[in-house]
Amino acid sequence: MIISRQKEFHDILQLLAEKNIFIIGCGKCAKKQHVGGEPEVKDMKKRLEAAGRNITGWTVLNSACSISSWKEVLSVNPEIERSDAILVMSCGGGVSVISGFAGIQVYPALDTESLGGVVCNEVVTEQCGMCGDCTIWLYGGICPVIQCAKGLLNGPCGGALEGKCEVDERLCAWDKIVERLKELKKLENLDKINEPKDHMKKGRVKT
Ligand code: SF4
Ligand code: SF4
Repeated sequence: MIISRQKEFHDILQLLAEKNIFIIGCGKCAKKQHVGGEPEVKDMKKRLEAAGRNITGWTVLNSACSISSWKEVLSVNPEIERSDAILVMSCGGGVSVISGFAGIQVYPALDTESLGGVVCNEVVTEQCGMCGDCTIWLYGGICPVIQCAKGLLNGPCGGALEGKCEVDERLCAWDKIVERLKELKKLENLDKINEPKDHMKKGRVKT
C-alpha cells in the first residue's frame, strides 16, 4: 500500500497551466485511502470546473501504476486524446507510468509519503520510508527512519512527553521500539551504534 495525500487545492490549480485537463484516478491504494477513487476524482472535477478549468473527462484506472497498454486506457475514455494535460490522482508510481505513455504533460494531484499496509481492513501509514538500506529488524520491526519524526537511528531524542513525540501528534516511535525489543528479548540490539544510512545504496546498479 502506497500512502499518499492530496496536495493543497491551490497548489494543484497553480500546476495546471494547460487549457483542457483530463483526470485519472487509481482504483488501488489511492481509492483505499479516499484520495484518488471515483468520489475524489468527481470532487476534483467539480472544484476545478468551479475554478474555471475545462475538464475534458475522467476515469479511474484499476491501478494507475500498472498499465498493460495505453490503447486500452484510451479505449475507456478517448477524450484523453483531446486533452492538453492529465491530472493523476495516484502515487508517484502511477504518475510516472502514465507520463511514460501519455505524450502530453502529466501532473500529480497527490504527494506520496511512505509505504504502508492494511491491518484488519484499516490502512496503516508510515511502515517504510523506502531508504534502500533496510535494517528494520534491529528495531524489532518498527522503522525509525519513517516512524520517528527525526528519523533517529540510535535511540530517542529525549523530548517525548508521556509517550508523545515532541514534534507532532504521533506516539514516540522509540518508546514503541524499546517495548517491542523487550517483548522480543532483543534489547541488546540497542548496544550497537548504527551508522547513518548509506544513501549510495539507493542508486546501486540495477541488475
Ligand atoms: S529501514 Fe529503510 S527499507 Fe527498512 S523499513 Fe525502514 S525505511 Fe524501509
Ligand atoms: S520524541 Fe520520539 S518520535 Fe519524536 S523525534 Fe524524539 S525520538 Fe523521534
